[in-house]
Amino acid sequence: MADYSSLNLDPGRRLAAPEDTSMVPAGERPDMPTQVDVAIAGAGVIGLSIGWRLAARGMSVAVFDRDTTGAGASLAATGMLAAAAEHEPGGDELLKLALESQALWPHYRQMLEAESGIDIDYRDEGTLLVANNRDEVERLRFRHELQQRCGLDAQWLNARETRALEPGLRASVAGGILCKGDHQVDPRPMVPALARAFVRQGGLLFENTAVTAVDTAGGAATGLQTAAGLCKAKSVVIANGVWANDLIEPLGVDVPMRPLRGQAMSLITTRQTGTLSHVVWTEQIHLAPKRNGRLVVGATVEDMGFHAAVTAGGALALLEGLHRALPSSEEMEVEAIWSGFRPTSDDDAPIMGETGIPGLTLATGHHRNGILLAPITGQAFEQLLTAGTMQGAATGFGLDRFRKPVPAAAKVPAGE
Ligand SMILES: Cc1cc2nc3c(=O)[nH]c(=O)nc-3n(C[C@H](O)[C@H](O)[C@H](O)COP(=O)(O)OP(=O)(O)OC[C@H]3O[C@@H](n4cnc5c(N)ncnc54)[C@H](O)[C@@H]3O)c2cc1C
Repeated sequence: MADYSSLNLDPGRRLAAPEDTSMVPAGERPDMPTQVDVAIAGAGVIGLSIGWRLAARGMSVAVFDRDTTGAGASLAATGMLAAAAEHEPGGDELLKLALESQALWPHYRQMLEAESGIDIDYRDEGTLLVANNRDEVERLRFRHELQQRCGLDAQWLNARETRALEPGLRASVAGGILCKGDHQVDPRPMVPALARAFVRQGGLLFENTAVTAVDTAGGAATGLQTAAGLCKAKSVVIANGVWANDLIEPLGVDVPMRPLRGQAMSLITTRQTGTLSHVVWTEQIHLAPKRNGRLVVGATVEDMGFHAAVTAGGALALLEGLHRALPSSEEMEVEAIWSGFRPTSDDDAPIMGETGIPGLTLATGHHRNGILLAPITGQAFEQLLTAGTMQGAATGFGLDRFRKPVPAAAKVPAGE
């Protein structure tokens, strides 16, 4: 009988933040303030990014999460900042937003690391898109043509040039694209860095404190009802990812959004197995080398509702894609395998801005781009809540784009 007692894999368990980045002593919670300038529901990268920027502007800000920081999609993410690599036909407005955010990333990273004292493993080697064989080359060429039409920095490489950049790739590799501007970061240290930077700017972070409802008076949002009591606020931001409708639907606002499950895993590379020096993207998977020899393999895209299970099919898809790309992966130890819910709107783009209810704004729907879009979202809400309006590409992502115009006939008063 085999002895499984030494197995340490715990399916579903995510990679944790490094221990030395713990934010607040477990179980400790600040006192509930009587009133703040801004109350935010959700401490993922989006809620924390907004909170951090507003606290840095001298506002009093409270962020509430029913779990620990990043426990939603944020700590499930790979951390690709892949504006060019993942650009899809029809996504031109989103591309503008993604490129604006990508341009903000170096400064955002610098400030985040300086204020938190945490190295977030930002890497700028670029992303290498790979065609594993001749069949995939044509589809990759189509992607390259689209990238060129959009003026993106994307360099076509033949098979030899591709393997010269990543010698560990399978010998059948037939071509590639190098997107030099698509960098990466590690969400494991990024989430606690955001939490720490937010708290150091005077922000109040309430973990394990569910928001139960938006507090309203006279048709306007006036705060958040939480498990720890009422937090009155001049402005309220709903940033609780794919769960936004739990809080906003009772107010008569419908956010067209669903969870898209992503399963991912991490492997431990060694000197013998070798690792990668770029993020490698194939039709099936992406591979992102992190600190300490870790290699993150992501991610499935599954429309399964709120079903968080790690499945055999998900693991198979990841392992199959891995095997096709990187032969030495057979010897790599599996460290963890997990799932997360991307908050995905009907057009795959974020929903940012006003809701039609005075005092209530929404920041959700960041789908597979929440890490990439964290800087621009923080900046856009800083503009909105200090100057009253957003600027730049962020202005095109309001909830009103989903509201259907009322048909002319429906406007005709009865009897006419
Ligand atoms: C497998 C996978 C890989 C990904 N890879 C990438 C990538 O490489 N690059 C990239 O840019 N993006 C990536 N993403 C997408 C990215 O993770 C998300 O877009 C981003 O994390 C969304 O952040 P958020 O703060 O809006 O939501 P979340 O991180 O989901 O945060 C929402 C928070 O709200 C809390 N909450 C919910 N309800 C309540 C309530 N009632 N009261 C209080 N708190 C509440 C939750 O506990 C949670 O912490 C990936 C996602 C997945 C799943």
